[in-house]
Amino acid sequence: MDKTSLEQERSEILKRYRSLLTVCRPTIKKEDRKRIRQAFDFATKAHKDHRRKSGEPYIYHPIAVAKIVVEEIGLGATSVVCSLLHDVVEDTDYNLDDISEYFDEEVSRIIDGLTKISDIFDQTTSIQAENFRKMLLTLSDDVRVILIKLADRLHNMRTLDSLPPKKQLKVANETLYLFAPLAHRLGFHAIKSELEDLAMKYTEPEVYQTILQKLADTKEERNRFIQSFTKPIKKTLQQENLGFNILARTKSVSSIWGKMKKKEVPFDEVYDIFAIRIILHSPDEREKADCWKAYSIVTDIYQPNPDRLRDWISTPKANGYESLHTTVMSRTGKWVEVQIRTARMDEVAEKGYAAHWKYKESKSGESGIDKWLRRIREILKSAETDALDFIDDFKLNLFSDEIIVFTPKGELRTLPVGSTALDFAYSIHTQVGNNCLGAKVGHKLVPLSHQLKSGDQVEIITSKKQVPKPDWLNYVTTARAKGKIKSALKEQKKKQADEGREILERKLKQFKIDQTQENIQKLMTHFKLPAPLDLYYEVAIGNIGQKELKAYAIDQEGGGILSYIRNPFAKSRDTQQQPPASHDPIRQQLKDKPDTLLIGDNMENLTYKLSPCCNPIPGDDVFGFVSIQDGIKIHRNNCPNAVQLLSKYAYRVVKAKWTTSKSIAFLSGLRLRGIDEVGLLQSITNTISSEYNVNIRNIHIDTHDGTFEGEVMLYIHDTQHLNNLIKKLKKIKGIQKVSRIGKMES
Ligand code: MN
Repeated sequence: MDKTSLEQERSEILKRYRSLLTVCRPTIKKEDRKRIRQAFDFATKAHKDHRRKSGEPYIYHPIAVAKIVVEEIGLGATSVVCSLLHDVVEDTDYNLDDISEYFDEEVSRIIDGLTKISDIFDQTTSIQAENFRKMLLTLSDDVRVILIKLADRLHNMRTLDSLPPKKQLKVANETLYLFAPLAHRLGFHAIKSELEDLAMKYTEPEVYQTILQKLADTKEERNRFIQSFTKPIKKTLQQENLGFNILARTKSVSSIWGKMKKKEVPFDEVYDIFAIRIILHSPDEREKADCWKAYSIVTDIYQPNPDRLRDWISTPKANGYESLHTTVMSRTGKWVEVQIRTARMDEVAEKGYAAHWKYKESKSGESGIDKWLRRIREILKSAETDALDFIDDFKLNLFSDEIIVFTPKGELRTLPVGSTALDFAYSIHTQVGNNCLGAKVGHKLVPLSHQLKSGDQVEIITSKKQVPKPDWLNYVTTARAKGKIKSALKEQKKKQADEGREILERKLKQFKIDQTQENIQKLMTHFKLPAPLDLYYEVAIGNIGQKELKAYAIDQEGGGILSYIRNPFAKSRDTQQQPPASHDPIRQQLKDKPDTLLIGDNMENLTYKLSPCCNPIPGDDVFGFVSIQDGIKIHRNNCPNAVQLLSKYAYRVVKAKWTTSKSIAFLSGLRLRGIDEVGLLQSITNTISSEYNVNIRNIHIDTHDGTFEGEVMLYIHDTQHLNNLIKKLKKIKGIQKVSRIGKMES
């Protein structure tokens, strides 16, 4: 570029800067001029070799954004400074430290937020509206970040022509989807309409041009109509001494198109292509009264549609909009919308709340703006829903409990407050979570349990060898991570359990125990485990090994759970089996074992127990069996387990006989079956308790389709005693069968 054109550029830059200062003059204090100048110089230097896609010097853009920020949004000096610097960190060699060096803390904080938001928009994937708003709120403790971003987008949309078509579409769609609703929500009606029209120019160029053309074609006719429509209104307003302006506001192209689509009508049938706006110059205290007075005048002249009265003066919209709308019938038979508002209301409607606070605080500077900014934050956070409102409002309530963090590539992740590096890993991908070793947050190594905060950039370190550990459950907050860890642990356990199952089967074989469902149940009870999976798992990890199983087997043989009678051909080998030498307790017991055990004399010092599998009572033929945990157990000779015990472990059998006196009661059980009859239970209990010296311990009866099956556990003296009782029970009407529990049924 030659010298003269460089000179020209330089003077153009200064010219634009001066026009910014002109705009600032009414609202920005003199002492702030210095900061603005400093920012301008800094930005000019930083962007000096930098051009926009259009070929213009880059600094035109920050100057334009700063101007929008003051003129159209209504912000103050700090925002002007930040607008001038908003692309420095993002696009030049200067970093945030450089900013902090020259500018205050507040400025660098805002620039940091702006830079982070830019990072996100540079992603190729489209950002979702929900994330967008959360991101804006999270990254910007300061609402000014959002507002400067909005100004930035507005200027980019105004200059979108110079971008390649593909990029135009992306930016235009993003604007429609995210920024226009944001502007609407904040009450920047003019910005919202402009953004929508600018976007439509690129997203639907043909429709856009057609409607634009039709508006131009009908302009003259419209003006004539407006003239005659407003004439009687003007006259009466003057007679009533109301100060006023009357404007005709044409709808934006995009909202006309919206109406055409929604009502399925052609351009000519959109009745409210324009609206008549009456702006009253009323003092504060008469605003409302004057508006209603004007309403009364208009509706005296034209017939109003009662369904179309909107009073946003008594109840302003959430975004601050105040106005009175009515739709009246014109003399040509067309409906016309009339908007009535004061000058103050009009400025608020066009420029949003900034204007409102300007009025409220009577230009007292930052404090008014601060209040306004706080109000904007409230609007952004509020769950209030407008018909046209932001998408995903329902998620808002959750918002304050969330943090926003970034992947190394700058992708955004939303997580609940308290989330850790491990939660983050699982939010990326289950496998990343499962293989997570640790993380780097801002290039610093942190453990899995490290709690993240908003704005953290997190890199997960993985290893293929890593697998989830049970204590990981203490490190995570998200339901997703918890679920994934649990299912990974379960999967691991299942795999190990499969191995454990085989190991168990092999081991049980050594003890001649079959892996039947019943035996697994007994093992579970013995080892106090809730499920077979747990049993297999404990075997797999070695918590239940040879020693434990052996102890169990020996014990159970004594206890007689082995209802399963084995192949008799195995007998000879079994009988030769020697007592395991390693088991001292049993060897000791065997050494001490008596020739004949006399049962029943002295219940207090029993060195034996009556086995619960057959509940022997005096009179039964019995034998004693040396068990490891419960000492000697007494079984009936006809106990279901007797054959096996006697054949396999003959060396552990002790002869036993009763020497009882009648004073001792033994627990015995009866099983009853029959037809369910009225009063049956009572008959059974009466019969049992009328028998001398019998006590019922418990009774349990199930009835099913007219039949019953029951068990009675009772204390009884001997077999004769019991047999008597059985006979009596059998005589009860309805009872078909009575048998002793523990006796094999024939
Ligand atoms: Mn920019």
